[in-house]
Amino acid sequence: MNIYVSVDMEGIAGVVLREQLSKGEALYNEARHLLTAEVNAVVEALVEQGAKKIIIKDAHGSGFNFIPELLHPGAVYCMGATPVARRFPGLDSGFDGAILLGYHAMAGTGQAVRDHTMSSLSYRNIELNGKPVGEITLDALLFGLHNVPVLLVTGDDATCREAKQCLGEVTTYATKEALNRHAALIKSPKLVREELKQSIGTALSQRPQCKPLKLEGPYELMVDLMTTDLADSRKVDGTHSIRLDGCRILYKDQDLLSLLSRGL
Ligand SMILES: [Zn+2]
Repeated sequence: MNIYVSVDMEGIAGVVLREQLSKGEALYNEARHLLTAEVNAVVEALVEQGAKKIIIKDAHGSGFNFIPELLHPGAVYCMGATPVARRFPGLDSGFDGAILLGYHAMAGTGQAVRDHTMSSLSYRNIELNGKPVGEITLDALLFGLHNVPVLLVTGDDATCREAKQCLGEVTTYATKEALNRHAALIKSPKLVREELKQSIGTALSQRPQCKPLKLEGPYELMVDLMTTDLADSRKVDGTHSIRLDGCRILYKDQDLLSLLSRGL
C-alpha cells in the first residue's frame, strides 16, 4: 500500500493564530514542533498499517516547515516550494490513497480557523466551473488526475464539513472546534496524535468506498483577487483569460492542470 500525504499547517492541533504560521513570527518555531510531531504520528500509524511507500508533502507557505532532524524515518518528505503543475512530486497512479492533513476551510467560510484559498493576501474567492472551491477540492482534483482517492481530511470542524460536502465518502477528523478565524476550542495535541492513528485505521479500511474526485471539462476558473493591483499584474488575452471587472479574472481551458497553472 502506497499513501501520499499533503500537509498544511492551519489545521494542525494547537494552531490557531497567524503568529504561528509564518517564518520570523514569535510563535512559528513552537508551531513547527506541533506540525512535525503530528506528521510523525501519521507516519507511525501508516507504517503500522503496512504502508510501503509514503510521501509527505510539506504544502504550507514556503514548503519548508517540518523540522528535518525530528522526522520519522519511515517516509520520504517533499520540502520546498513547487509550482501548481508539480504540487505533488512523485505522485502517480501507483498510490492507493491520499491524506490531507492540517487543512483549513475555503475563503469566506464563517467560524473557521484561518479560512482562505491559496493565499489570504491574494484571493477573496476562487470558483471552478461556477462553484466556489477551496484547497480541499483543488488538491483532491490533482490527486484525482492520477486516480488517487482522498481517504482522510483533518483540520477544524469547518474543514471536516467542507471535506464531506466536496468529497462525499471520506473519513474526517477534527483537531479543533473553530470559534472564529483566530479562536478555537482545541484538543491536546497529544490526544490528537493518538486519535489520528485510529482515524487512519478507519480511513484505510473504508478505502473501497472512496472515489477519486473528477471534474469533466471544459474548465473555467474565476479568481476574485483582493486588489485591482493584483489583477493589473496579470496578463489577459480576452479569449482564454478575460478581465471580468476590477478584481475578477476568468480563465478558460480544456485541460485542468494547464488551467490551474495559468490561473493560480
Ligand atoms: Zn497553509
